[in-house]
Amino acid sequence: NASRLLGKTVLITGASSGIGAATAVLFAKAGTNILLLARREDALKTVQQACVAAHKESGLKEGGQFAPIQLDVSDKAAVSALWSKVPSALRNVDILVNNAGYVIGKDHVGDIDDSIIEGMFATNVFGLISMTQLLVRDFKAKKSGHIINIGSIASREPYVGGSIYTATKHAVNAFTASMMRELVNTPIRVTEIQPGMVETEFSIVRFLGDTSAAKSVYAGLQPLTGEDIAEEIVWAASRPPHVNIAETLIFPVNQA
Ligand code: NDP
Repeated sequence: NASRLLGKTVLITGASSGIGAATAVLFAKAGTNILLLARREDALKTVQQACVAAHKESGLKEGGQFAPIQLDVSDKAAVSALWSKVPSALRNVDILVNNAGYVIGKDHVGDIDDSIIEGMFATNVFGLISMTQLLVRDFKAKKSGHIINIGSIASREPYVGGSIYTATKHAVNAFTASMMRELVNTPIRVTEIQPGMVETEFSIVRFLGDTSAAKSVYAGLQPLTGEDIAEEIVWAASRPPHVNIAETLIFPVNQA
């Protein structure tokens, strides 16, 4: 029931494209306020405009405040200083969507530079942990909150050329599952969504801007869209307070 989301404030990392952008638009339609975080300011402003339009179309009076905030989640100091950039009306966050993440190149062990390995861990794992630490303290104090982490099918199915990325998503899975148990006697909910192939900028980033290489990843199958994952995130967030969607796996019908 989406009415449970009315007037809530959602923080989404990686909101400038793909799954994060689609999730922002869907939360906007459900009458929430949103903090849109990523590194690309221009792209965030475009998503902000899409949120304004979606909220207007919904006709809802609740929500409707959307703040684009430039933040690199791998920059610990910037994460610690986040609240100084957030308008005071949006500091009471109810739902954190830890979505920022990427893979670069074929991360075949032995062929991959340390800087790329460290970068992937810094964003996919340490950035997610820093954002969680920042929010979970508030959630504990106010005795409510929902942390939704975007993992991957890569935490279940290893693949050749994915050694580092799969390791980061295994870490997300282990961290999320342990945290859920740590928070079990609190009203704070913890969810992990594990997508299969979703056509976003993910493969374009992976292949360093080579769009035809990116497209070839989806040959012979119909990939999921960012909206498919957004629907699942918003669904998990709108369950009754006593229901915790712990972990879900979603992939295209024809993904092997
Ligand atoms: P996109 O590349 O479209 O989106 C990734 C988002 O993460 C962008 O908004 C990017 O914004 C942001 N981002 C990356 N690094 C940082 C950083 N250091 N700090 C802040 N923001 C950052 O790909 P998706 O939407 O597909 O990816 C979203 C999540 O879904 C990722 O965690 C990915 O691992 C996961 N996933 C994706 C799958 C797929 O097939 N697409 C499958 C399974 C999981 P900016 O560049 O502006 O910072």
